[in-house]
Amino acid sequence: MDAVLSEKSVTQTKTDAVLSVKDVKVVFSGFQALKGVTLDIGDREIVTIIGPNGAGKSTLLDAIVGKSPVASGHIYYHGHEITNKNPYEIARLGVGRKFQNPNVYNELTVFENIQLALKGTHGIWSSLTTKLTSAKKDKIASVLDRTSLLDKAMTPVSSLSHGQKQWVEIAMVLAQDPSVILLDEPTAGMTSDETHLTGEIIQTIVQDHSVVVIEHDMEFVKQIARRLIVLHQGEKLAEGTVAEVQNNPKVVEVYLGRERIDVAA
Ligand code: ADP
Ligand code: MG
Repeated sequence: MDAVLSEKSVTQTKTDAVLSVKDVKVVFSGFQALKGVTLDIGDREIVTIIGPNGAGKSTLLDAIVGKSPVASGHIYYHGHEITNKNPYEIARLGVGRKFQNPNVYNELTVFENIQLALKGTHGIWSSLTTKLTSAKKDKIASVLDRTSLLDKAMTPVSSLSHGQKQWVEIAMVLAQDPSVILLDEPTAGMTSDETHLTGEIIQTIVQDHSVVVIEHDMEFVKQIARRLIVLHQGEKLAEGTVAEVQNNPKVVEVYLGRERIDVAA
């Protein structure tokens, strides 16, 4: 990590944000998916992003983690430029991303899945056959505790509910000790009880991490959001508290023909 951060090519900024996105554009074969998006994420802050389908929400996360090439603009992590760096390097620096679809080992237990995700783990075989240190066991227990999975530790992932599988994925991201966690529609396909518990899990996580959440369930957004950003057609349309955004005329107009944004999801 130090080696990467001390690279000569790294550019410093004056911001003290954990993650800083400055005027980022992403272009796919001539189509501008992001037209110059700027946002800052502070230490242990939750930023929630909403916006209609195709607004560029997932593309923004892809750009941050190095998966979609940034055509212009800059992304800084703790003041160090990470724009267009290798996704592996960005993850190693401390930006963790959960994708929309669970990517877990179904045949393994919840505990084993977290064990495989621990930082510094190389390969399934050596990970599962090497004796775990007590520090690693404590780490896994802490991660499972924070994601409401402690009583499921020895359960194979295949017998978990859809919601619980999503939490396993969040736990796997946590196991890598990122300082920023990016969650793309973490409640997709969940029951309302699971959605609510996910909100509680995120509120626990944000005690130690900065969190960016893409979401369109407005009940859930109200549960977790402090600062809300609305993306529309690759641009930031509005930013503020949930109430400010809901009453923003530009936002109301985008969620066409609807009185208020909370009936538009
Ligand atoms: P959202 O997550 O807000 O629904 P996306 O970021 O997935 O939106 O997509 C934004 C726009 O960019 C959409 O029009 C989508 O079709 C386009 N897009 C996303 N990824 C790619 C890609 N890899 N290649 C071409 N177009 C893409
Ligand atoms: Mg998306």
